[in-house]
Amino acid sequence: MVRPRYEMPGNLRPASLQERRRFYARRMDYDAAAAWMSRPAGGRVFALILGRHSGIYPRRFRHLKNVPLIIDDAVEVRDLRPYLLRYLPEGVYYDRNVYAPLDETRKARIDYARAWRSRVFRGQELAFDLDPENVDCPIHGDIAAKMARHQGLSFCDWEFEEIRRQAAELFDELARRWSRLRIVFSGRGFHVHVFDADAFRLSRKERGGIAASLARRYAIDEWVTSGEMRLIRLPLSLHGMVSRIVIPVPRRRLESFSYDDPRAVPRF
Ligand SMILES: [Zn+2]
Repeated sequence: MVRPRYEMPGNLRPASLQERRRFYARRMDYDAAAAWMSRPAGGRVFALILGRHSGIYPRRFRHLKNVPLIIDDAVEVRDLRPYLLRYLPEGVYYDRNVYAPLDETRKARIDYARAWRSRVFRGQELAFDLDPENVDCPIHGDIAAKMARHQGLSFCDWEFEEIRRQAAELFDELARRWSRLRIVFSGRGFHVHVFDADAFRLSRKERGGIAASLARRYAIDEWVTSGEMRLIRLPLSLHGMVSRIVIPVPRRRLESFSYDDPRAVPRF
């Protein structure tokens, strides 16, 4: 069966370097992002992806375009600003691990990807990542079919609406166990974050169990929930593949939320 080609719905498109510069210079709400990162207190680490998916990056940083550029000396989110204006990344992430104060953490010289057993590790924020390409679409097929056509990052309105429905259902299910939940529009799909103290303390094994059991019913990325993939998009940053702002969405507004929500559309 020949399936129709597709890319992204509406006017979603990659942001240019100039648009990224304008956004990080003048539009980003650094205070709201700082409020997000304030819980719980601890050393926090950030990461930038320059141009892995869009292929758009400053030429002089060609050697860095695909790898996460780790920033472990930004105490406040605003401290990221000089880095954002220098590297003009397509995506900004934070490490869901909470560490000892940053000067102590840097001195320990750990490999952040293997931080779990280190003495500077304090816990990890539990999160769920729901992306529209992971749902089985009646028109475009499943993720394997999309990957085979090199359309692993494409999605359509049907897939967006289905992943939004799943995010609402997952939130309501998680709300039976935890109370400090937040939903974030990731630019393409949704993230559900859990800020309850007991969730921060879950072991790797417990996280793996939660991920495996929920992945049977939701199109979640198991690697994110299990803790294997610790980076997640920073709310209020720009998703440079689709030119949308990553924003928290109250549960009561989720059903009617669109990727064209005025809060999510950047005015470059
Ligand atoms: Zn589709």
